[in-house]
Amino acid sequence: MSQFDVAIVGAGMVGASLACGLIDAGFKVALIESGELSPSQDWPPEQVDARVSALSLASENLLKNLEAWPVIENMARLQAYSAMHVWDACGTGQLNFTAAEQHLPYLGHIVENRTITSALHQVLGQKQYQLFEHSQIVDMTSQEIAPRRLTLVSGEQISAALVVGADGASSKIRQLAGLPTREWDYPHHALVTRVKVSKPHQNTAWQRFTEDGILAFLPLSTAAEEGPDNHYCSIVWSRPKAQAEAMQQLTESEFCLALSQAFEGQLGAVIASDQRHVIPLRQRHAKRYVQSGLVLVGDAAHTIHPLAGQGVNLGLLDVAALVETLKQAQQKGYDISSLGVLENYQAQRRGDNLRMMTLMESFSRLFGNQHPMLSLLRNTGMNWVQKLSPIKQHLAQQAMGVGAHLPPLSQAPKSVKNTL
Ligand SMILES: Cc1cc2nc3c(=O)[nH]c(=O)nc-3n(C[C@H](O)[C@H](O)[C@H](O)COP(=O)(O)OP(=O)(O)OC[C@H]3O[C@@H](n4cnc5c(N)ncnc54)[C@H](O)[C@@H]3O)c2cc1C
Repeated sequence: MSQFDVAIVGAGMVGASLACGLIDAGFKVALIESGELSPSQDWPPEQVDARVSALSLASENLLKNLEAWPVIENMARLQAYSAMHVWDACGTGQLNFTAAEQHLPYLGHIVENRTITSALHQVLGQKQYQLFEHSQIVDMTSQEIAPRRLTLVSGEQISAALVVGADGASSKIRQLAGLPTREWDYPHHALVTRVKVSKPHQNTAWQRFTEDGILAFLPLSTAAEEGPDNHYCSIVWSRPKAQAEAMQQLTESEFCLALSQAFEGQLGAVIASDQRHVIPLRQRHAKRYVQSGLVLVGDAAHTIHPLAGQGVNLGLLDVAALVETLKQAQQKGYDISSLGVLENYQAQRRGDNLRMMTLMESFSRLFGNQHPMLSLLRNTGMNWVQKLSPIKQHLAQQAMGVGAHLPPLSQAPKSVKNTL
């Protein structure tokens, strides 16, 4: 039976980042993925991933420290955004954030998810570790005793001092470990697609709170034959399920018209749209992230409303905290599977994740309620925050993932002039 220090289950953005960080730190790593790794980037330029992420500065730093950022830059498919414009359709409330106010060149980047995973998978291709593709865990020793023994679908068995569940929202590892969650459906599904608009996107992330959901237009970088084109946006439109599904069924021209109207023509007319996808939204938070010899990271530990684009940013902060915790334990000669060590990671991350989830939940409820008093309150509140720079500064710093004490992997690399 092969033996490893760490077996990471799931090679998405979070699991692949963790694998890079732990291999760099000298751990013997196994990576188990039910699909396959996708290092190649030979997709046609006009083909895009409908799923995109607004990456914070802390996430950018982590990807720089893992040497995945230059690969993403080479793919020329990342779009810096230097402003955020948020407004309430049912009133006068609005909030504007700019990079200039923060004395920064930009607030973050919008990147297609597959670009991020592909870059990480390329970086992994240059490292020494054991990869199990098209592989799933069918069984795991349930006693909280390290090392844990994992049985793969092929019948092969491996053992690891530490098993990491990085296998997304429906985590099999979380289920096998019997770690309970607190979860509920949001009343909304997210409709996502890429659209073309008649006016340039102005490198701005736009978000409109409407009476039946939230509509975000995120600026995309798309290279057209005649050069970079700043007329493409990724949209995330959270709406009641029936409405999201009805929008999916419209013809392209009907959909473009409905979207132009819902967005109040802020970027002119919506003139084209790609295939539309509808994703159910569910809030989920594991009550514990750790057991002896087992830990959860990313969506396996927490899934959050996409309204502030924080899901993967929180997951990458989990990665930075876990890598640092395990490195320090190793340096001090502690057992990396011990509950004491792993609880240290949980203490660093669970409170922060819970705070962000609670904030998003409050926004979602506040904007989902049409009571006239609440509408007045939130419009007044938005305009009040817009004028009160310390609170606005705090919100901006939360969104950028800066301000708080960050683990080394989330800090600007030493060779780079520090932006945080
Ligand atoms: C509409 C929408 C918009 C979003 N926008 C943003 C945004 O702007 N910014 C942001 O930060 N976040 C955003 N998010 C959240 C973000 O997409 C997730 O937080 C992120 O994808 C989670 O990454 P992960 O690696 O933890 O999980 P996943 O991406 O789910 O990856 C899990 C991996 O594990 C593999 N796997 C699953 N089960 C098994 C198994 N049993 N065995 C082996 N392998 C397995 C999967 O194949 C996959 O590779 C958004 C989410 C939604 C729904």
